Amino acid sequence: MQEDIQEILIDRYAIQARVYKMAQELAATYGEREFVMMPLLTGSIIFVADLVRHLPLRMRIDVAAVSSYPGRTTSNQGTQVLYPTAFDVRGRDILVIDDILDSGRTLHAVCMLLREQGAGSIRSCVLLKKKLPRPPEMEADFVGFEIPNEFVVGYGLDYNGYYRNLPDLAVLHKRVFGGT
Ligand code: 5GP
Ligand code: MG
Repeated sequence: MQEDIQEILIDRYAIQARVYKMAQELAATYGEREFVMMPLLTGSIIFVADLVRHLPLRMRIDVAAVSSYPGRTTSNQGTQVLYPTAFDVRGRDILVIDDILDSGRTLHAVCMLLREQGAGSIRSCVLLKKKLPRPPEMEADFVGFEIPNEFVVGYGLDYNGYYRNLPDLAVLHKRVFGGT
């Protein structure tokens, strides 16, 4: 696995320091107000696990599963909600958590749906945001790091289901995408 890595973009120590700061930003926003964290599976699991342990606030965690990058595709192929079949968000304050904001289509689709379902407030928090020539379809309220427009893996992010368990955020060698 290590030999597939071209470069470490953000190491585990820098991630931890930033996650701690983000938790403080969230605590300042929600304070005493109860809210629901909605991590989007599977990419955000490690981020959310680290984040919530710095947040001694009253919250629930309700996961949602969406699909936008099936298999080996590396661009958004259209967002589908796979889970849950019915949301329980009416009147609740929802914080959607995703690993990375790229085109913004995933976040936009999820937030539109939550609004339709009558959520009280909707905010979004991503660990990473890609620097792109065009602005994303939707901005996130909380952003950990801005990164160059490269396909990254590690700390929950995958390529074809693999590399999520890398502790650092990394760029893969081009040859990995060729499947050789
Ligand atoms: P968007 O809908 O904003 O284009 O893409 C967001 C989703 O695409 C994220 O939830 C993430 O799963 C996936 N994604 C976007 N860029 C990357 C990337 O560089 N690496 C990985 N592993 N996933 C990405
Ligand atoms: Mg994802």
